[in-house]
Amino acid sequence: MADGFAFEVGARLDGALGRTGVIHTPHGDIRTPAFVAVGTKATVKSVLPESVAELGAQAVLANAYHLYLQPGSDIVDAAGGLGAFMNWPGPTFTDSGGFQVMSLGAGFKKVLAMDTAGLADDDVIAPGKERLAHVDDDGVTFRSHLNGDLLRFTPEVSMRIQHELGADIMFAFDELTTLMNTRGYQESSVERTHAWAQRCLAEHARLTAERVGKPYQALFGVVQGAQYEDLRRQASRGLASLEVAGRGFDGYGIGGALEKENLGTIVGWVSSELPEDKPRHLLGISEPDDFFAAIEAGADTFDCVMPSRVARNAAIYTASGRYNVNTAASRRDFRPLEEGCDCYTCAHYTRAYLHHLFKAKEMLAATLATIHNERFTVRLVDDIRASIEAGRFAEFRTEFLGRYIAGRRQGGGLGPAEGSC
Ligand SMILES: [Zn+2]
Repeated sequence: MADGFAFEVGARLDGALGRTGVIHTPHGDIRTPAFVAVGTKATVKSVLPESVAELGAQAVLANAYHLYLQPGSDIVDAAGGLGAFMNWPGPTFTDSGGFQVMSLGAGFKKVLAMDTAGLADDDVIAPGKERLAHVDDDGVTFRSHLNGDLLRFTPEVSMRIQHELGADIMFAFDELTTLMNTRGYQESSVERTHAWAQRCLAEHARLTAERVGKPYQALFGVVQGAQYEDLRRQASRGLASLEVAGRGFDGYGIGGALEKENLGTIVGWVSSELPEDKPRHLLGISEPDDFFAAIEAGADTFDCVMPSRVARNAAIYTASGRYNVNTAASRRDFRPLEEGCDCYTCAHYTRAYLHHLFKAKEMLAATLATIHNERFTVRLVDDIRASIEAGRFAEFRTEFLGRYIAGRRQGGGLGPAEGSC
């Protein structure tokens, strides 16, 4: 690890692709499997970076598209990079901006989770929305959601922005398709993403040489291919074999349209084609059953904005499902948000107090609820890691999901998370 980045595999799951490991970065280690907190605009909304560290998050992921628009990646660069800018000394990730840019294309916020039964159309957009992004073989032209300016992302632009942001782990610019795209479109999209991946590697090598003296930034290629086994495998093999000047990708992201029912299957296809000794990041999941399925199938790290987003709407994660602290049931309930939880909020505050803060629209409500939900999610993935190390993954899954699903059925929870990361 001459450049400060390396991955070591630890314990393996018997008869499956899952494993534990350690990702070494210039800003510290990440023990995997790990949940990465999302700080889209260089902040985990409403929570101090010190609290994010205290609740056990090992790394933070920010978004290249948002930081490019505001404040500008050059400003983050001048501040000494993302971690220095936001006072987060630990490891950082940036996504490529592709997800946000492509989401503009269809106008769907929930592009990964929408109900697509019976639909197959490359031109479909959300009702009442204007198509804001257009993809061609060279890149994507889109309008800023802030001021309507016409902008263009290419693999080279994404790499430049991400080098300026300076995160330890970056992602190659890829085309995000939806489950509604036709098979023919998915095929051409996988080819396009492969060509863009090669351009990202080349630009990454050029920028790494140009920005001499900066900490090494690892680059992950992103596997697309929607729900098609042959396309997912082809995309994985293609990215695994790519090299520019003797260097390939440092790890891989698994992106794009994933249906909950076959999430584990798709991650398994991809993991079995990718090199064993490189980390794999699954973009955007946060439901407990999804973590178990994805980790068993070989995913090492995850990110999702849902734990903090729903916290701001008073939705509280617990091991017995989710509940809303905004309802009358919590008004005189002086227990912590979740009994037995080791988070700062549960150690010091009650449901009745959180209920009051939400009703009074006090800002502290979002802060305290976010600390709990992020801690819940980070701890769950940490517990899964410990269960693999102890050789009791299957038992832990049965125990945890049994209680979680039973709690959900009893009506205490809100059911599966609505929306997506
Ligand atoms: Zn708690």
